[in-house]
Amino acid sequence: MKRCPLSSGRLATAALALTWVLSSRAVAQNMDRARETISALAGPAMHGRGYVNNGEHLAASYLRSRFAEIGLLPLTPEYTQSFTLPINTFPGRAKLRVDGKLLRPGVDFIAEPSSGPGFLTGHVYQLDTLVFHQEGAQQRLLSIDLRHRVLVLQQPEVARLAQLPAALQAHLRTAAARVTLVPTKLTASLASEQQSQPQVQVLAQRWPEQARRITLRLDAVLQPAYQTQNLVGLLPGRVQPDSFLVVSAHYDHLGRLGQRTYFPGANDNASGTAMLLELAAYYARPENCPAYSLVFIAFGAEEAGLVGSRYFVDHPLVPLSHIRFLVNLDLLGTGEEGATVVNGRIFTQQYQLLTNLNSAGHYLPALAARGRAANSDHYYFSERGVPAFFLYTRGGPTAYHDVHDQATTLPLTGFRGAFGLLRDFLNRLGANSE
Ligand SMILES: [Zn+2]
Repeated sequence: MKRCPLSSGRLATAALALTWVLSSRAVAQNMDRARETISALAGPAMHGRGYVNNGEHLAASYLRSRFAEIGLLPLTPEYTQSFTLPINTFPGRAKLRVDGKLLRPGVDFIAEPSSGPGFLTGHVYQLDTLVFHQEGAQQRLLSIDLRHRVLVLQQPEVARLAQLPAALQAHLRTAAARVTLVPTKLTASLASEQQSQPQVQVLAQRWPEQARRITLRLDAVLQPAYQTQNLVGLLPGRVQPDSFLVVSAHYDHLGRLGQRTYFPGANDNASGTAMLLELAAYYARPENCPAYSLVFIAFGAEEAGLVGSRYFVDHPLVPLSHIRFLVNLDLLGTGEEGATVVNGRIFTQQYQLLTNLNSAGHYLPALAARGRAANSDHYYFSERGVPAFFLYTRGGPTAYHDVHDQATTLPLTGFRGAFGLLRDFLNRLGANSE
């Protein structure tokens, strides 16, 4: 293992002045560079960092060169930890026409994550909500041939379908397609399986009042074993190289919906990935060499259900018992209202340290603690006994899992503050070893 260029012994009085000059230039993140990182990752060339057009592979090669440029050491060839996952994808056409009106993919409609493929024209069949209460209505529905009709229902009704008799549920699945009308906002997601029925969600305000006929063309392809990867880089510690602090952020996102639409994922999670790179660049400077070893993990397949982080926990590249703390970064692009810390209520001592540092440095306007939540890549670590926080910023734009989560509109209000806070926090966790 290569050690830091500056050992603690060499940081003697004579060098202190020079160190001070160097570090006064190197205490901060580089906001221009962070913005460039976010624009690159969220740009059209990365195809939403998903499973169409090699989006996540393109993002991974971009990150490999950034890791190398920063000087992170690989633990595996090319920083890469490969794994596979099943994933449903929408690589081809995504076209929806209602009574002659063309709806826009991403903006007016999205595919259900587990939608099947389809190319069809059919008449609308609006679900009669009496089926949830009346056997007579259920009998009537069973007598209707749905095979050339498109079942249309309201979003709250989808969850209630599971309460219907199995025969009726099966009957509804014989409809040529299913359209769910969503009241407020379209929120895309990913699935590891594929239904036979094509299913889409349409923004309710875009749906014509008396819709009669729809034409849908949706190319859906289930990839049973798509190969993707985590990327892992290391900065060896100068005092205790066998103790690790981990900084993680997922770089994947939702990919594409058809040939013209992609999900940029600027806030989710180009922003956290940019922060990871800024922290790595900071600690890679000789004068900032950490006491503990720092591991930087850019996780893949988070959006598919925390697949990359679960794979790492099952196949750790550093012993989990040697990880002193993990900080996971996801959604760091806003911050008007400060940040939330998942597991802040579990690891109360570390949370106290974090809030003290935040007050002392005036970094973020507020911090809020939450309990456990399986909502990002920290989860499987803390479930296995690795102390971990997941930090996300709050306030500002609310774009999330949609086509509006773009680099150009991301304010990065709390980015500078979050950097200072994370740097101080990691420094203090590491300082306990000296
Ligand atoms: Zn997400």
